[in-house]
Amino acid sequence: MNELKIAFVTPEAVPFAKTGGLADVSGVLPSLFAQRGHTVKLILPFHRCIKDNYPNAERLDVHLNAVVGSKQFDGSLYRLHDRATGLEVYFIENGSFFDRSELYRDPVTGNDYEDNADRFIFFSQAVLDVFRRLDWAPDIVHVNDWQSALVSSFLKTTAGQESLFQKTKTVLTIHNMAYQGQFPMETGLKLGVDPTLLRAPGPFEYWGKINFLKSAILLSDKITTVSPSYAREIQESNEFGMGLEGVLKDRCDDLVGIINGVDYSVWSPQKDTDIPYKYIPANLSGKKRNKLELLHLAGLPLRVDQPLFGLIGRLDNQKGLDLIASIIDEMMSLDLQMIVLGTGAEEYHMLFAQTEQRYPDRFKAFLKFDNKLAHLIEAGADVFLMPSRFEPCGLNQMYSLKYGTVPIVRKTGGLADTVVDFNEVTLEGTGFVFDEYDSGPLLDAIKRAVRLYARRKTWHKLVKQGMQKDFSWDNSARQYLELYHAIVHPTT
Ligand code: ADP
Repeated sequence: MNELKIAFVTPEAVPFAKTGGLADVSGVLPSLFAQRGHTVKLILPFHRCIKDNYPNAERLDVHLNAVVGSKQFDGSLYRLHDRATGLEVYFIENGSFFDRSELYRDPVTGNDYEDNADRFIFFSQAVLDVFRRLDWAPDIVHVNDWQSALVSSFLKTTAGQESLFQKTKTVLTIHNMAYQGQFPMETGLKLGVDPTLLRAPGPFEYWGKINFLKSAILLSDKITTVSPSYAREIQESNEFGMGLEGVLKDRCDDLVGIINGVDYSVWSPQKDTDIPYKYIPANLSGKKRNKLELLHLAGLPLRVDQPLFGLIGRLDNQKGLDLIASIIDEMMSLDLQMIVLGTGAEEYHMLFAQTEQRYPDRFKAFLKFDNKLAHLIEAGADVFLMPSRFEPCGLNQMYSLKYGTVPIVRKTGGLADTVVDFNEVTLEGTGFVFDEYDSGPLLDAIKRAVRLYARRKTWHKLVKQGMQKDFSWDNSARQYLELYHAIVHPTT
């Protein structure tokens, strides 16, 4: 297939900056496209953490200019070149917008930065200016989530007539409908678009507000989201579409779900450099030693007959923590131990801190972000708990499968697409799946896991079936490239 010029625009990407799964995706896909011979520019803001950790980023002799409302803002452009893959990474610098301790939130108040709209209008305008200054006309501009969605929207409005972009096609990937970039109507005046587009039924308007994501859903050539089930769910109900279900349904012919992959060079027990003992499916002795190490770190005693449950993630309602809260005592009365790693809502910090006090020999909470510990939990736990209310794709359940850590998941989004409920008669399946969002079915699934853990032979079969699953990126990257080619070279 022909070589494509691809701009991959994202607010975060591993290893540069990360708050969630979006960063994992953005850290892998562009490199894979570059490895396959495409010209790829990954573009993100020059966040403080990048500035501090990548002093070798080269400052280019390029002066960026972006208009936000009535104000002009300057920006600089930095670049890193990954010789191994050929990927070029560009960072857009503006000290007052991006030189901050967190990506989107004020760590003092815990609230979103008040100028988030301005920050990402600036970023989106500056991305277009990067193309102009480099005189580079991408075939595909692939934007991710609300923070970069406007690049796509501007390409069909304010920048639509520019000759440089006449052949450029756009793809929006939605990683989570819960974050849409909604701002007061006055924000619309900062976009520089025709004011009629700001009023209903214009693409930027949403119930008297401005909605960045909505505009890109309506204006992008193609829309993807991160699992086939989530692609269906977000069109079907308000619970998943979060108000944009009608808009998504209108674009159903151009909306596809492509499951995220796993970077197995980082997340597999054979290769993981963050865990003390590597292991393979044929010999799980390393897993047992990792469990010992993890229990030791958590200050929990070893109980050989009891499964160790792990939970890692943002402590957010999305993750089904209200269900766990309502059964925590019943759960802790079962023969199990549990380790939680996460940060987020205060109520869950309190819940887990109190649980630790009440069950000091059974429960440990690490209320922080710690990548190395996340690897050790995947490697050392026996069961992984992920009872999400909704889950666009979810990565941890896929990591868990590879590490032989049996996932308990709710049947939603990417969880439904990646975990198969274990059938005790046929012995097929890879985890425990419950359907209704309710604490009863969750507790039943937990009890099933504890019971089955005692049947060592059957448990091992379940573990190994999960470890054999392959969710590598190759398949997903191929689907994205097919999509790009289909819009750049349509056959009809
Ligand atoms: P989401 O994108 O909704 O946060 P995902 O499961 O798709 O959830 O991805 C979350 C990613 O962030 C995973 O790689 C997970 O290991 C990591 N992660 C989340 N919270 C923490 C934490 N407290 N410490 C270390 N890693 C974390």
